Amino acid sequence: MAEIRLYNTRTRAKEDFVPLDDKNVRMYVCGPTVYDRAHLGNARPVVVFDVLYRLLRHVYGADHVTYVRNFTDVDDKIIERAKRDGREISQITEETTRWYLEDMAALGALEPDQMPRATGFIGQMVTMIEELVAKGHAYEAEGHVLFAVESYKDYGKLSGRSVDDMIAGARVEVAPYKRNPMDFVLWKPSSDDQPGWDSPWGRGRPGWHIECSAMAYELLGESFDIHGGGIDLQFPHHENEIAQSACAHPEGAFARYWLHNEMLQVEGKKMSKSLGNFFTVRDLLDQGVPGEVIRFVMLSTHYRKPMDWTEKKRAEAAITIDYWHRLTTELEPSGAVPASVVSAMSDDLNTHLALVAVSALHSQPQMLLDAARFLGFLDDEAREHYRQMNLVEGVSVSVSGKDSDSTAKALSELRDTYIVAYKHAKKTKSFDKVDAAKKVLATMEIDVSVHVNSVEFRAKRPLDDQEIEYLHDLEEALK
Ligand code: AMP
Ligand code: ZN
Repeated sequence: MAEIRLYNTRTRAKEDFVPLDDKNVRMYVCGPTVYDRAHLGNARPVVVFDVLYRLLRHVYGADHVTYVRNFTDVDDKIIERAKRDGREISQITEETTRWYLEDMAALGALEPDQMPRATGFIGQMVTMIEELVAKGHAYEAEGHVLFAVESYKDYGKLSGRSVDDMIAGARVEVAPYKRNPMDFVLWKPSSDDQPGWDSPWGRGRPGWHIECSAMAYELLGESFDIHGGGIDLQFPHHENEIAQSACAHPEGAFARYWLHNEMLQVEGKKMSKSLGNFFTVRDLLDQGVPGEVIRFVMLSTHYRKPMDWTEKKRAEAAITIDYWHRLTTELEPSGAVPASVVSAMSDDLNTHLALVAVSALHSQPQMLLDAARFLGFLDDEAREHYRQMNLVEGVSVSVSGKDSDSTAKALSELRDTYIVAYKHAKKTKSFDKVDAAKKVLATMEIDVSVHVNSVEFRAKRPLDDQEIEYLHDLEEALK
């Protein structure tokens, strides 16, 4: 079994990855708050944890890995968006969830095994909060329930801060009902026009952090293997998840390996609406940037380094991907995974090296195809798209015999029209016209063969003037 090593933020060291149960390797990744299109930065954790998921499936078997990623569908930002747009909250969250799945699929990301929505687990959150209150880790104040950070001695360990440092450095919301300014909300009251659920503390809704603790416990148990997310979530979100889970279920270890991806920037600057360099994944896809090109750029930088999205990288990635397709269109994937790529990935997801390893297989296209597929490139849809777009490439006309120039010229002209007609036929699935043309050409001893990405016209002899004239008629008929 390949040995995987991962950098664990909790211990600040690269460690051998040893799952609790190699028949069920479990990973939880914090997902999006659904009120708007995913921006390019949001796609980074998706692609990073997708390649980790693929590696785990390869090493432990596809049926022995459980990947959970949540949707936060109750949040004040969602409430505000619904108010602004005069729409129902559920309309917004459902639409955004659909967009998210479409956009991430376009990047070649596999869907996690489970994608729980926060609103589907309110009961479990209430139970967990009740346990925290009963054990003295949380208290009720003015309709709120707050987690008492001083009740958990390891609070701040993940990010390496003390509670006093946090108070000094953070912009904490100081509320009169908080015992300690760092105490965070588990439950808060809802007014009549806000979404709310009945609870022992009145009608209200959960704070953000509790959902991940409750859903991870419900779906993965009190101890599981990997917890992932962007580095921006390390504090306070992940710190709070740990505090909640460790205090509600002290018998468990919660997550054992913590992985964090660094942030994405654009042309060296933080992506922001005010700088005008903010864009969504959909913006890029609509501009015609293939999803696998975005994926390539994402993976060309190691996940623990800040990544810079640049136009130059996009253009270079497009050339490499194009080359990979060109080398492999005639092949079928074998399902094998070349060792060089597994070994690069097993070293704390060295995706940069893995991409170099794929390109290094250019003289063994079958292995290149298999390696690229393992990393989520050259999937069936991308390959079909490439074939459609590149049918014109590699077109050849050959004529045997003397005085063949005029025949070659007429055939080249016909060939261009034929390709357009063929592509159209493929799209509409009606081949009558091109088949008829092919038959007519056969009577003149001209062979037409269509390969995966090329069309070949072969004339056995030069044509006479009358036949050349006839080719022009045929061209008109194909238009
Ligand atoms: P959010 O919907 O804001 O909670 O973010 C969803 C995910 O995207 C989280 O894992 C964040 O850490 C991640 N994320 C947000 N912005 C960026 C960024 N600029 N670069 C990388 N990851 C990001
Ligand atoms: Zn979370």
